Amino acid sequence: MKTVEKELCPDCDELTTPDIIEKEVKVTVRKEEYCVIVKRAVCWACNSEFGLSGIDFDEAALAYNEYRRKHNYLFPEDVKNIREKYALNQKSFSRLINSGENTIHLYEKGGLQDGAHNEIIKQAENPEVMKNLYDDNNDAVTMDIRQAFEEKLKALLEEKNKNKMREIIQSAFDFKQDIYCGYKKFDIEYFINFMLTILGFYKPLSTTHMGKIPCYLDFLKFKNEGVSFTGCRYVVGKYGPFLNDYSKLFCFLKDSGVVDSDIDISGSGEIYVPLRQPDMSVFSKKDADLIKEVALKLGPMSTQALKNKTHNEFPGWDENKIGQLISFENARNVRL
Ligand SMILES: [Zn+2]
Repeated sequence: MKTVEKELCPDCDELTTPDIIEKEVKVTVRKEEYCVIVKRAVCWACNSEFGLSGIDFDEAALAYNEYRRKHNYLFPEDVKNIREKYALNQKSFSRLINSGENTIHLYEKGGLQDGAHNEIIKQAENPEVMKNLYDDNNDAVTMDIRQAFEEKLKALLEEKNKNKMREIIQSAFDFKQDIYCGYKKFDIEYFINFMLTILGFYKPLSTTHMGKIPCYLDFLKFKNEGVSFTGCRYVVGKYGPFLNDYSKLFCFLKDSGVVDSDIDISGSGEIYVPLRQPDMSVFSKKDADLIKEVALKLGPMSTQALKNKTHNEFPGWDENKIGQLISFENARNVRL
């Protein structure tokens, strides 16, 4: 039995240091019976039991939590987190879910939410749902926080959109692990780091460089280790080998804020610069050295010189096979 600070006994008015005991209590919540272990303070002087502050002493609150666990309801702090995610105040959030202005305040304080409210608050964690709620009921959000709320909502929608694009790219490049992708499973996060690492060693890079440097790297790594870096596929292009479906990948890199690009005034495509640092921890020292070597050797070449080099030297490139995938079987003859 643990003791606590001195408390005033409500029965005998003695200032006592009560014992704390635990009791099993049955509580009915929405017609369901819950058995909870609740704490009680026991007065030394008169032996009467009384409650203290804190959820451990609150059998209703404990039973509500049991109910939440059983029915997969949000907990008070979940409601608060969802609200704060959007920089909403309690009043505005209550109005957005078409409820009384005090509703969210009560839920955050521990009141058991109504089932329909639980569902809508849960769904409102998705910014697209929140946007619909707001579009349907603009006046719900009080003027003082409207700007902050709209900014948060916009940022969350953009984030969500980025994730969607990421999933689309991931599934579009999730090829069968065969000789055409160097037996590597494509991973969009890894690919982002890979491109950022190349750009970290040499920038800016033209579209041609962005399409050919990964090709050399993937084939050289395959030559050494039997597996490529990225799992990307390469096709026979008019001017040598090229990253297959490169425009999808480069658009993604740009739209998701990984790189920025501008028209390449000296060539036909664009030039790219990185917008952030790579996470190099995903590469071994050997990998990083190879990326550095290739980036520093091919990066400074002119677009035309790089085209000529691949056109003349790259094994497996055959102008009669334009558009066809290049097998990594050719890797054994690739050199820088
Ligand atoms: Zn007492």
